[in-house]
Amino acid sequence: MPLYLHDTLRREKRLFEPRDPDRVTLYVCGPTVYDYAHIGNARPPIVFDVLVRLLRRNYGPEAVIYARNVTDVDDKINQKAAREGVPISEVTARYEAAYLADMALLNVSPPDLAPHVTHHMDAIVAQIGAIIDAGCAYAAEGHVLFDVSSYPGYGALSGRNLDDMIAGARVEVAPYKKNPHDFVLWKPSKADEPAWPSPWGEGRPGWHIECSAMIETVLGLPIDIHGGGIDLVFPHHENEIAQGVCAHGHPHESHAHDGYSRYWMHNGFLTVDAEKMSKSIGNVLLLHDLVQNMPGEVVRWALLSAHYRQPLDWNQALLDQSRKALDRLYGALHRSASVDALELDPPAEFMKAIEDDLNTPGAMASVFALSSEIERAMTAGDLAVASEARGRLLACASILGVLQSDPAAWLEGDVSDTLRVEVEALLEQRAAARAGKDWPEADRIRDRLNALNVIVMDGPQGATWRMKG
Ligand SMILES: [Zn+2]
Repeated sequence: MPLYLHDTLRREKRLFEPRDPDRVTLYVCGPTVYDYAHIGNARPPIVFDVLVRLLRRNYGPEAVIYARNVTDVDDKINQKAAREGVPISEVTARYEAAYLADMALLNVSPPDLAPHVTHHMDAIVAQIGAIIDAGCAYAAEGHVLFDVSSYPGYGALSGRNLDDMIAGARVEVAPYKKNPHDFVLWKPSKADEPAWPSPWGEGRPGWHIECSAMIETVLGLPIDIHGGGIDLVFPHHENEIAQGVCAHGHPHESHAHDGYSRYWMHNGFLTVDAEKMSKSIGNVLLLHDLVQNMPGEVVRWALLSAHYRQPLDWNQALLDQSRKALDRLYGALHRSASVDALELDPPAEFMKAIEDDLNTPGAMASVFALSSEIERAMTAGDLAVASEARGRLLACASILGVLQSDPAAWLEGDVSDTLRVEVEALLEQRAAARAGKDWPEADRIRDRLNALNVIVMDGPQGATWRMKG
C-alpha cells in the first residue's frame, strides 16, 4: 500500500517516494541536553519512531538511516555547567544518559546516528565559510550572520513573508545586524565560556547551523524526511533550509529547497490540562518522573492516541483510557498465551490507516478489533482463528511499538509477593472446589478474590488473573 505523508512545505499530503529505496534517510531534531525532558519533548521521538518502524517494514531494516542529533553546546548548557562549576561535558553526559534511559522505557528505538555538535565543529565552520562565499552571510564584530535578504525563498516553509516580518519586527536589533531577521551562524564566546577556533575568532555556533551541517555530513543531501515539533518550523527549520540551500550557492533557484529535504513533517503541540506547559504555571511534567510512576507504554499509547498533527491535551482521563486500552490488549494476549502466534502482516485496515499520514487513532481501532476477535475465538475454542488474530495483533504492535512486555507481568502490575501467593492459593482452592462441585465454597473464594481487587479469567487452559484497573 502506498504511504502518504503530510508535507509542511507543500501544505498537502503527498505520496512518499524515497530518492533511493535502498537508502531512505530521516533526520529529527533531538534534545538539548541540559535538563530532563518534559512530556512535550517525548511526542516527536515517539511519532517518528512509529514512522521509522513503518519505513523499516516497507523498505527493509537496513535500508532506513535515521539520525537524531544531540545539542551538546548551548547557552543553557553553559549556564548550568557554570552554576555547578563543572565542564559542559559533565552536564551533557548526565542528561543525555537520562534522556536515553527515558526513551528506552517508552520503547523508542535508538536512532542509527546520533551526531553531537561538539564532534562536528569542522563541518559547521566549513559550512559557514561556504555560506559567506555564496554571498549569503557576513562577519561582524566576532559574529557571523546569515543575510536573510540574500535568499528569496526565505519564509517558504513557515508561510511568512520577509517584508511583513520586517514591518512587524519587535525584536531588539543588535547593532551588528544588517536586517533584524538576520540570524547567528557563529558567535564569540566570553573568556569563561566554551570556545572553538574559527576564521572569525574563538566562539561557538548558533543553534540552526548545527543541524544543516550535521545533516549534510552524516546523511548527505538531499535527505528524504526532516521531522520535528511544530514549534521548530520557524525559525529553526526555515533557517536550516536557508543555510542548506545557500551553502551550495543556489539562493536564486526557485526549487533549491528540494535539494535539502524532500519532505517536512511536524507534530502538533501538547498542552497539560488544557494549558500550555510553563514554569510560571508550574505544570511542567518531566518525562523522567512520569516513567517512574507508570509503564512507559501508557505514556506512549497516550501520545499516539491523537493524530500526530493534531494538538493533544495531556490529562488524567487520557492516561486512564490508555491504561485501560493496554490492559484490554494485554488481556487478549494473556488469554491466548497458549496459542502460537502466526507470523503475519498487520490487517489491511491497519495498514491503510497507518499509511494515511500515520493515522494512529484509526490504526488503534483495528488493533482493538483484533483483540475482540482473540477473545471471541478463545471463548469458542477456535484456536486457529485465535492464532491468526494473535499474529496480526503482534504485527500491529511492533509498528506502534507497544505490547512489548510480558502479558502476565503487565496484568499483575506491581503486585506484592504476599498477594501473589495468596491469589495463587485461592485459585487452587477454587479449582478444587469446582472440581468437587462445592459451589458455595467456590462462591466464597470468588468473593474473597473480588475483595482483593483481582479479576479471574477462565479459559480452556484454566484460570488466569489480573488486578482490576
Ligand atoms: Zn534541528
